[in-house]
Amino acid sequence: MNKKPIVAGNWKMNKHPKEGFSFVDEIQDLLLDINHVSVIFAPPFTGLFEMNVNPPFYSAAQNCHWENSGAFTGEISVSMIKDCGANYVIIGHSENRQSGETDKLINLKIKSAIKSNLKVIFCIGETLQQKRKKITKQVLNKQIRFGLNKIKIKNNIILAYEPVWSIGTGVIPKKNELFETINFIKKKINKCKVLYGGSVNPKNIIVLKSIDNIDGFLIGGASQDPNKFIDIIKKTYN
Ligand code: PEP
Repeated sequence: MNKKPIVAGNWKMNKHPKEGFSFVDEIQDLLLDINHVSVIFAPPFTGLFEMNVNPPFYSAAQNCHWENSGAFTGEISVSMIKDCGANYVIIGHSENRQSGETDKLINLKIKSAIKSNLKVIFCIGETLQQKRKKITKQVLNKQIRFGLNKIKIKNNIILAYEPVWSIGTGVIPKKNELFETINFIKKKINKCKVLYGGSVNPKNIIVLKSIDNIDGFLIGGASQDPNKFIDIIKKTYN
């Protein structure tokens, strides 16, 4: 585990702004003296403006559009996200890939974010079918190659390895497999931080945090419950 791990919570389409605001307040109050870990909250767009966070707490959008303005109904630009005070944006989440987001669009979004100095949490991961076919490395390689096409400076990009078969299922990869996959990703992108995401909970965090090369976690379900999220954060740095 990295010396200063990152724990990011993706709330997906949950929590209205007021709920999000009090959730974040509660967590910040209960973790007043933490500085060995960075905590990122990713609310829905409507809650982003209400985020009132100070380091080591940060906020993130769950997606963005690649253009800065224009006729893109329902979309939000990077500058709008920055205007809300957010520091990060999640790009390439498998739930968006499944509804049609391509590597090409992901690449445009990442370029737009880093051009404006918005940090990126770039999600990659194989499906169960791809895992069974033993093509995980080819899949990740393609997602990385196309997603980061023509992006030279990558220091504002954090990778999140999220096997699709692990998201929301309660199943996590075997320790040695995860170590190997994270190593594979790190060899592709020099000095890049890699988070793990997929069914992280207060129990399995003990095993997961013992994997040396992981730099932190991206958490869906368990990040929406204050007790579970705090438990995970504390166990991550203790
Ligand atoms: C996610 O959707 O990014 C995720 C990791 O979800 P969960 O923790 O619920 O598996």
